[in-house]
Amino acid sequence: MKVLIVASEAIPFIKTGGLADVAGALPKELHKLGAEVAVMLPLHSKIKHKYKDDLQFIASATIKLGWREKYLGVMKIESSGIPFYFIDCDDYFGDETYRGGDAENEQYLYFCRAVLAAIPMTGFVPDVIHCNDWHTGMIPMLLRTQYSGTELDSVHSVITIHNINFQGKMDFQMMQDILDIDAKYNGPGGVEAGGCANMLKAGLVFADKITTVSSTYAREILTPWFGMGLEGTLKAREHDLCGILNGLDYEDFDPMTDKALIKNYDSETITAKRDNKKELRSRFGLVGNLYDPVMCMVTRLTSQKGLDLVRHVLEELLKENMHFVLLGSGDAEYEDFFRYIAEKYPGKAGVHLGYDEELARIIYAGTDFLLMPSQFEPCGLSQMIAQRYGALPIVRETGGLADTVTSWNEFNREGNGFSFWAYNAHDMMHAIRYALSVYRDKSALRQLRKNAMLLDNSFLASAKKYMELYSEVIG
Ligand code: ADP
Repeated sequence: MKVLIVASEAIPFIKTGGLADVAGALPKELHKLGAEVAVMLPLHSKIKHKYKDDLQFIASATIKLGWREKYLGVMKIESSGIPFYFIDCDDYFGDETYRGGDAENEQYLYFCRAVLAAIPMTGFVPDVIHCNDWHTGMIPMLLRTQYSGTELDSVHSVITIHNINFQGKMDFQMMQDILDIDAKYNGPGGVEAGGCANMLKAGLVFADKITTVSSTYAREILTPWFGMGLEGTLKAREHDLCGILNGLDYEDFDPMTDKALIKNYDSETITAKRDNKKELRSRFGLVGNLYDPVMCMVTRLTSQKGLDLVRHVLEELLKENMHFVLLGSGDAEYEDFFRYIAEKYPGKAGVHLGYDEELARIIYAGTDFLLMPSQFEPCGLSQMIAQRYGALPIVRETGGLADTVTSWNEFNREGNGFSFWAYNAHDMMHAIRYALSVYRDKSALRQLRKNAMLLDNSFLASAKKYMELYSEVIG
């Protein structure tokens, strides 16, 4: 079985969010299961710069984008036995990874066309193209409507929704002009959603199968609140929609081998977390009792992540014997709030605004709790990383958070974190206060950490489900 995974980002080359973790980890597991896998990504300027000595030139061509002619270079790097192909075009990927607005729409309209043009140039014609999110949404449609009679005629497609909030909306004229889309597709049975052209919608209509990254989210997006205008389209294709929970790359996220940690540990040597906690405290200037719990957030600063709840009650929470640490970047309103918190509560709360992979790992290893009160969360990786590092997630029961975190049950001593259901600041605070009270019970804490660390959230189980799905699609 030959599978091509197409995404806008993937580890180890470039990462801005959870999609990169998935697009990097899934091919490795599929490869272990016997699939022939390749990955195709844009050659973002950051990758071009960092890997300039490793990139191998494969081929180049000029492709047509409506009336325009654009350069297409295909480059390659082999990583962990997987060929990664890169679409090289400085006009589109020579600066920002994501330009925003129509400029970003154009970047990825080009990318979708370029992927299909590049496949024959690589010699790797897959049975299935596995698309990810709106950035790749036009591929299934182009395949079905413009490539019959070519060598891509029998290629199937699957699209995974990692976050339905982002859809790639633009006016019809733009999409038509760049990709020569026939005007007959400008209706609800084609690319139209909410009165404009929509790249994700095109993927949902034309892909053979649709997946999303947890079972709960697969149910949630059939409703207007979570579906963001695409619930009708999804409802119509409900029989082709399923949830496959993401896993973690267990080689990459392993507290026993992670080089960012001061001291490595596993579930048997968990007391070494204390050394990592000391490091975390010193990085964030926390003072006071070492045994007071630390609660962290490692997150994009956007309303999706439940930051309005945090903003509402954080100062009240800081009256408790605990420390708070945040690593994140994003919307100015939240950055301003956390700057204010850091200035008002030095020694008690620590804030680092920015993206820092190494610091994130130090946090997971050193923290006692990880807070994720998301409004919606398709899957969420942070809570799984926390569990693997023996930190207990405190989450809202939505999407993948509901599927991965089981709240502590003090009677049967099962559970691997804490959760609350209503999107309400005081419900969140109640869950946090409960977690803080359990923290003081050393035996319960030990059991909880062990339960969390021994969970199997590796990617293998997910990869097996994707293999079944590809087989079904190929028939
Ligand atoms: P999303 O993809 O919605 O941002 P996930 O929980 O699925 O959320 O994945 C987030 C990933 O990005 C995790 O690996 C998390 O550790 C990482 N991350 C988020 N913000 C930062 C940051 N500021 N610095 C370093 N890593 C971050």
